[in-house]
Amino acid sequence: MSEAGPDQSRKDDCLVITGAGGFIGGSLVRYFHDEGFTRIRAVDKKPLAEWFQRVPEVECLSLDVSQPENCRRACEGAVEVYNLAADMGGMGFIERFRIECLRSILITAHMVEAAYRAGAERYFFSSSACAYNTGLQNDPNARALKESDAYPAMAERGYGWEKLLSEMFCQEYWAERGLKTFIARFHNCYGPHGTWDGGREKAPAAICRKVIEAKDRGTDAIDIWGDGSQARSYMYIDDCIQGIDKIAHCDELIATPINLGSSELVSVNELVSLVEEIAGVKLKRSYKLDAPKGVGGRNSDNTMIRRILKWAPSTPLREGLAKTYAWIEQQCQARKAGKRTVRDAM
Ligand code: NAD
Repeated sequence: MSEAGPDQSRKDDCLVITGAGGFIGGSLVRYFHDEGFTRIRAVDKKPLAEWFQRVPEVECLSLDVSQPENCRRACEGAVEVYNLAADMGGMGFIERFRIECLRSILITAHMVEAAYRAGAERYFFSSSACAYNTGLQNDPNARALKESDAYPAMAERGYGWEKLLSEMFCQEYWAERGLKTFIARFHNCYGPHGTWDGGREKAPAAICRKVIEAKDRGTDAIDIWGDGSQARSYMYIDDCIQGIDKIAHCDELIATPINLGSSELVSVNELVSLVEEIAGVKLKRSYKLDAPKGVGGRNSDNTMIRRILKWAPSTPLREGLAKTYAWIEQQCQARKAGKRTVRDAM
């Protein structure tokens, strides 16, 4: 869509968003709804009561899109398809449940075929920085990853290889069948309405929760996975959503994987210090050296996205974390008060 937003005449186009019961899919549904789209179909395998966000006036379907007939139903009449459904989580999940991660290939295989058969004009796929060659990411000071660094391939076992193969599906549907596909390699995304507890949460949410719980219990220490030197960049959800819209509507990017991530690199120790600052506490750190910690260092090289879109994620980590912390604090209070929270909805 243009800077001025979507063309008015396209606002009745049917947009299909899978993974809509989760973090990024749910936020994308809300975004398009707020942009004035009138025919949004939100799809997720979770029962509706467990979706992280429910947006009024949006058609919501509880369907497992690893099944071809459900994909056909999901894609009926679709003009644009955004496939964000995947079995995923933070390092604790993807290092432990590789089979579940690999099985997401069924979602890609059936969704892209159903989108093509439905005559969709555009198909967006959420890939991941885990598709990059892990050999380039041993050092916390490793250089930022550029798009060509996925090959020669040595992706993260399970989750990363599934993303790489899904990217290839997207590229071949364009090459052989002319479906316009778009592929963004997300780097860690965080923000309100994301998973914050239960085993699938990622570092920013996990650290916010641990600091909030330590404050609440009056304890003075928190556990940290690894030695805290692992470095990552973290993208705020609003940047992710804007980036998806821009990428999916840029024809120069058809079938071309592109980084969608922040380039503000921090170590886990620095992340903890930022959260402590926001919370107004200082805690002792207990390092769990045998816990899952992923690669040593991973950052997003944003040269390509700046060149092509004249844009890149720009929310400062401190600013996005403050909003995320406030939201997780509310969730913790709601849970204490016996109310329903996103975590209980998992
Ligand atoms: P999420 O877990 O919050 O949402 C994913 C949703 O997909 C869940 O609600 C889940 O129920 C749904 N789903 C899983 N299998 C399904 C199926 N068979 N049929 C229908 N729905 C199914 O995750 P998220 O953070 O919103 O991630 C969205 C996408 O972005 C995923 O493809 C993920 O791999 C990718 N991604 C996310 C990040 C990140 O930092 N959050 C980073 C890289 C890539």
